[in-house]
Amino acid sequence: MLRALGLVTVLGFVPSSAEAWCQLTSENVEVRPGECVTEGAPLRWERRCLSYTLDTSGSPDLPIETVRAVVQDAFAEWTSVDCDGSPLDFEVQETEVLAECRRAEHRSGGPNLNAITFLDEWPSRYPEEAYAVTSVWHRVDDGEILDADIVVNNRLGPYAICPDDGCEEGPDGVVPADLPNVLTHEVGHFFGLAHSQFGWAAMGASSPRGETRKRTVWSDDAVGICAIYPPGSLDTACDFTPLGGQGTTCPKSGCSATGARPGLFAALLALLAVGWRRRR
Ligand SMILES: [Zn+2]
Repeated sequence: MLRALGLVTVLGFVPSSAEAWCQLTSENVEVRPGECVTEGAPLRWERRCLSYTLDTSGSPDLPIETVRAVVQDAFAEWTSVDCDGSPLDFEVQETEVLAECRRAEHRSGGPNLNAITFLDEWPSRYPEEAYAVTSVWHRVDDGEILDADIVVNNRLGPYAICPDDGCEEGPDGVVPADLPNVLTHEVGHFFGLAHSQFGWAAMGASSPRGETRKRTVWSDDAVGICAIYPPGSLDTACDFTPLGGQGTTCPKSGCSATGARPGLFAALLALLAVGWRRRR
């Protein structure tokens, strides 16, 4: 990528052979800063056409059409990566359904949706200082990703579209968080990337408020997604329907959010705020 090359040239501290990206694995349950988890099956989608459903109540800070455009751009930033002259095989589209189920879940044998949701009530099982958490549902034995859900923590807002060089402190003394920064990072998890050991990469594990660097898929991130999905390695068939059919509503019971089922697990990945302050 041109921008990625630009970073190397301008900052000059990244040897071209250095790689720091990591792939999620079925054993990715503990955080070990500075190293990739290599145990377990590496996680990856096997289907090339993917869809997501946007929570139509959107963000309290931004109009739904703005949120919709940010999400589209975040996916496009990844799917437009050039892998040594070949494009990635992914096609991603938004499915507009009335999604009443706002919980991150996967139903074995039932309809599903890859949900992108904004939560006022942040579940206690998620890190308090996380801007967002992505649940990557996968089969444990072969690492195939079945479903991925992104939830954004409204309590770490306000979210904004910052100027390119970042957001400044607002009149209320709070620096807004850049929504494209958060979502580009989370979409990397959606595709099966874990945290990069390079803090400056889109997949760096934490982010100061107002940061915009993670809007961009940098060289390390691009090398990662190309290594996980070499062009031609995904099933050529295209079906945007989630596994088990398109989900629209929660079942009346048994909608447990993170309960691992036999052979199925969700890797929970967050982007942590640096110097975070809960909104009043
Ligand atoms: Zn993360």
